[in-house]
Amino acid sequence: MKFSAIFAWGLFAGLTLGDAMTAAAEPVKAGAATSNITPPLGAEIVGGFAPFPATHVHDELHARCLVLDDGETQLALVVCDLLGIHRAVSDEARKSIQAEIGIPPERVLISATHTHSAASALGKNRFANDPTLDEYQQFVARRIADGVRRAANNLRPAEIAFGTAEAPEHVFNRRWYMKPGTMPPNPFGGLDQVKMNPPAGSPNLLEPAGPTDPTISFIAVREPGGRPISVFAAYSLHYVGGVGDGHISADYFGMFCQQLSRLLKAEDQDPPFVALLANGTSGDINNINFREPRGRKAPYEQMRFVADDVAAKIHAAIAKLEYKSQARLDARYREPTIAWRRPTEEQLSWATMTLASADKTPGKVDLSAIYAERTLRMAEHPETAAVPVQVLRIGDVCLGTMPCEVFCQIGLEFKERSALKPAFMVSLNHGYFGYLPTPEQHRLGGYETWLGTNRLEPQASEKLLANLLEMAEELERAPAGK
Ligand SMILES: [Zn+2]
Repeated sequence: MKFSAIFAWGLFAGLTLGDAMTAAAEPVKAGAATSNITPPLGAEIVGGFAPFPATHVHDELHARCLVLDDGETQLALVVCDLLGIHRAVSDEARKSIQAEIGIPPERVLISATHTHSAASALGKNRFANDPTLDEYQQFVARRIADGVRRAANNLRPAEIAFGTAEAPEHVFNRRWYMKPGTMPPNPFGGLDQVKMNPPAGSPNLLEPAGPTDPTISFIAVREPGGRPISVFAAYSLHYVGGVGDGHISADYFGMFCQQLSRLLKAEDQDPPFVALLANGTSGDINNINFREPRGRKAPYEQMRFVADDVAAKIHAAIAKLEYKSQARLDARYREPTIAWRRPTEEQLSWATMTLASADKTPGKVDLSAIYAERTLRMAEHPETAAVPVQVLRIGDVCLGTMPCEVFCQIGLEFKERSALKPAFMVSLNHGYFGYLPTPEQHRLGGYETWLGTNRLEPQASEKLLANLLEMAEELERAPAGK
């Protein structure tokens, strides 16, 4: 009797152990790598209204890659030093990644930082649904796929943690209500209710028209008890800017990654430590304190200041993290159909008339003519676009993405309403579809809502957010081990 009881217990214990081993009990693995995506000098820099050729590389551009593996599912996260990335580049890179290392497209995140001092991976027409890739776009897609493959080659047992840090002092909402009678006309000859980037320190400013998000969210990965492997962070700041003339630079995003490596004493590690700083939801956020007049700064001075401070804050937060050796990985991906905005007959005739009477002096920036031109081109668009949205599960953390310059309010809502928490968002992922204001911000007007800067239907943000929230709920409900 006694013998058989012990035997039965042993059998039971053996079974339990076996079951536990098949139910995602494997330790998480992680690997990271960077690919250089710097274009040749002479390539056109795209941040402003008119592109100009690059004459110097201040710092190299990278596609920064992190691969995670829970023993069953692999996720790849990529952040590129680009203003934006055409959807077709992301499609091409993800096709190669699937063919070469078997990670399916819905489990790969590819976003752009929004540095304004990079060459264009958006192609000739950033709003064409299915263009053929130009030489630089093909190069970027290839380098992303290689970076992910190299990150996968570096996979090793890991521990993972989620953290946040507060950095309210670098983020300012850039859309302002102004004193009555002081709003300048917009390029269409109308009056908006809010002004984007008004003169800093102007006595005519009233209040900003929207919030900021001061919270940097991040995921940290290290070798068990030891060396750092990667930090993937997102902060809702458009970019900093202030580069030298004709310079290529990754802006504060690149400086942050370098500084965090320095602080973690991981600069010369092999395999490498890789930091990634994605753009959160910063469509209406920038680095200008509009309440005060702006002092002059040397090139790269302000960028360095912001990068070092954000890195120091994350470094301090990393010291307090509690790591786990397991993390469930999962993903959901959709491409809801969203209408492109189309010019009305009235807008078309305004555009034709404006162009006919435009001042054609070379080098003169005429905003009305630029928007008239854009208005005419928008009439040639297809009616709708398939807009990629994606949600990743990393442990209990939920990461949502949209392919736009997403307004801050939308990111705050996702953090608040996601069924899987903590949650945060990354913008400019898997494509470029222009600014994404809320319908309420659309009604206020301003640069980000102008036809030509803004391309998607006014309800787009609500449709895309609803998709993210549904997918977050699916991930929350999905049983472990799928
Ligand atoms: Zn922008």
